[in-house]
Amino acid sequence: MGLASGGIVIEHLVKRFGERAVVDDLNLHIQPGELFVLVGPSGCGKTTTLRLLAGLEPVSDGRIYFGERLVNDIRPRDRNVALVFQDYAIFPHLTVFENIAYGLRARHAPRDLIRERVANAARLFRIEHLLRRKPRQLSGGERQRVALARALVRDAALYLYDEPLANLDAQLRHQAREDILTLHRQKGQPAVYVTHDQAEAMALGDRIAVMRDGKLQQVGSGLDLYERPCNQFVAFFIGSPGINLFEVEVRPDQDGSLRLVHAAFRLPVPEEFQARVAPYTGRRLNLGIRPEHLQPPRRADFAVSEDSTIRGLVNVIEPTVSGCTVYLSTLEPTPRDFVATLKARLPGSYLGREVPLAVNLRKIHLFDPEDGQALL
Ligand code: ATP
Repeated sequence: MGLASGGIVIEHLVKRFGERAVVDDLNLHIQPGELFVLVGPSGCGKTTTLRLLAGLEPVSDGRIYFGERLVNDIRPRDRNVALVFQDYAIFPHLTVFENIAYGLRARHAPRDLIRERVANAARLFRIEHLLRRKPRQLSGGERQRVALARALVRDAALYLYDEPLANLDAQLRHQAREDILTLHRQKGQPAVYVTHDQAEAMALGDRIAVMRDGKLQQVGSGLDLYERPCNQFVAFFIGSPGINLFEVEVRPDQDGSLRLVHAAFRLPVPEEFQARVAPYTGRRLNLGIRPEHLQPPRRADFAVSEDSTIRGLVNVIEPTVSGCTVYLSTLEPTPRDFVATLKARLPGSYLGREVPLAVNLRKIHLFDPEDGQALL
């Protein structure tokens, strides 16, 4: 079967197990050459979606196209899909060479071509010295690289990865991500990569789809999802350290302008958001503030008026390359009671100190508490 030069189109895809739809009306267009990441919590339907793409499960409803071609009824082996699964799926009785060569042999590739492709893949994944060994003589990281080499040695219409790096330590995982990206660019074919790790999704994905309970929440670049989440779930799921969430009440000031009122602060609603917030006057909203949008007020790009700050006592710090993530207890102006905790990214440690943090009001997020949809 030819390569999917038109990309992969998924239309109204449904998979039911019994009564339950574990993939529920999924619509996606994966562009040719795109590395597309599916991310979401455990059980949200990511692996099932991959299995539907590979043809390992029959679809309950909807259509899958590879390019122009409807593949719903095409057998897995005729879809020309390469799979890299978490449990490696390498054959214990075959040498590393034979494992890597397996897909090419199954397609009756000429012997010279097999030797050349295996040598290239082994060089890329730095396993040339292991070609005569059996899988049991390899470390976990080496086995992982064999699995990648085996899947990527042939030209497939679509590459599917299911948490392939889950068993690697942090350093190997970093290296393997780069290997996957390099290979992906060389192949120029679409790939779908499943992970529950949002940091991995951000590092790899040209675009990312966030799923929850079988339903697509949002598709976009990592930056889109981070800066413009469509709902509270996406806002919470994407980003580490995570977004701060507060329940606030919308109250008019004496001059009629709106404020977001919490026991620890009374933040003014920026002029440009007033119209969208006005229908919620007297009601509750959920306010989201990313940790880096809280800063000591000196910073020039932050509003510095007293009423756009939140006061907090720094309890815990986590040093990072770009400063510190600090965990604060927010303080009510009077009396100084603990109200809630929040996270901020500060240039220094401030441990044990009380700091006023200016909120970058242009970057706040507001969500309807009923359905979690974003207002801003
Ligand atoms: P994880 O990150 O834990 O692998 P996932 O997002 O990949 O999760 P899936 O493996 O797609 O999730 O499973 C989605 C839901 O479908 C889960 O609730 C799972 O229990 C259910 N499920 C998966 N396969 C079957 C099956 N063969 N029969 C019945 N239910 C199934």
